[in-house]
Amino acid sequence: MPSAAPRTDRRSGLLPTVRRWFDTQAAVQPAPPEGAGAARIDWLRAVPFALLHLACLGVIWVGVSWTAVIVAVALYAVRMFAITAFYHRYFSHRTFQASRPVQFIFAVIGAASVQRGPLWWAAHHRHHHRHADQPQDPHSPREQGFWRSHMGWFLTREAFATDFSRIPDLARFPELRWLDRFDTVVPVVLAAGLYGLGAVLERTAPGLHTSGAQLLVWGFFISTVVLFHATVTINSLAHRFGSRRYETRDDSRNNLWLALLTFGEGWHNNHHFFPGTARQGFRWWEIDLTWYGLRVLAALRVVHGLKPIPAWVLAKAER
Ligand SMILES: [Zn+2]
Ligand SMILES: [Zn+2]
Repeated sequence: MPSAAPRTDRRSGLLPTVRRWFDTQAAVQPAPPEGAGAARIDWLRAVPFALLHLACLGVIWVGVSWTAVIVAVALYAVRMFAITAFYHRYFSHRTFQASRPVQFIFAVIGAASVQRGPLWWAAHHRHHHRHADQPQDPHSPREQGFWRSHMGWFLTREAFATDFSRIPDLARFPELRWLDRFDTVVPVVLAAGLYGLGAVLERTAPGLHTSGAQLLVWGFFISTVVLFHATVTINSLAHRFGSRRYETRDDSRNNLWLALLTFGEGWHNNHHFFPGTARQGFRWWEIDLTWYGLRVLAALRVVHGLKPIPAWVLAKAER
């Protein structure tokens, strides 16, 4: 009888891990059984994530210019919109419709955020809604504490793979599967492009006082790290701090500051109560930049069919 010994040699070790930095399906690891270290942080795989943070210290050598700050802020805004409007409200919750080219373009912009591919993101997020603040929730501050719900959770072995059974509607697009598999391609191209742009500007427009290294540090490293931590406050802080309009089974909160930082995602109690609408600020004063952006895209006919807030949900919000 052929041996069916588990191929643990392919699961860990330096080489397979390094390959998985670039190809998430390299040395494919089956979902680790519970209790087999699945929930432990995979420190070797976390090296690029740590380097992303360390690289921000490059600011000591490259300095700052208005050009660099504007590029960093613009890239924060564009990528935050792609995450909230598309990774979250479109791919995870299907709250509006878009053509295949449009969904791919915004998936690429979302992938530039270094938050893995759209399928991985949506699969984990759907799981979060199904089990919010229960033991199976991948990132619950109630269950796992602040740091693990903020960033520790996705550095574990159990959170690495994309569970395709949660996203059959998305997995049928080969271009999205490709983006999910090679999720570092877009960030690497963005980083190289920023370096190239800065180097060209240094020569052709010295009055802008920037350089390749400076645009790389500000436009890629600093902007991406701030974008990352802002996004994941919704998993950590928005399940802890703020008000609760709806008595949901989870700990989700509405928080104005987080809503401003994340372009509307901070109305998280609204969202957990009714995730089926493209809008998360339910009252006119609940600022939801992503919703305004989606309205503009709908007026331009880039997207369509934005799902509104049902009257019964709205009536509850007005009480
Ligand atoms: Zn949540
Ligand atoms: Zn959601």
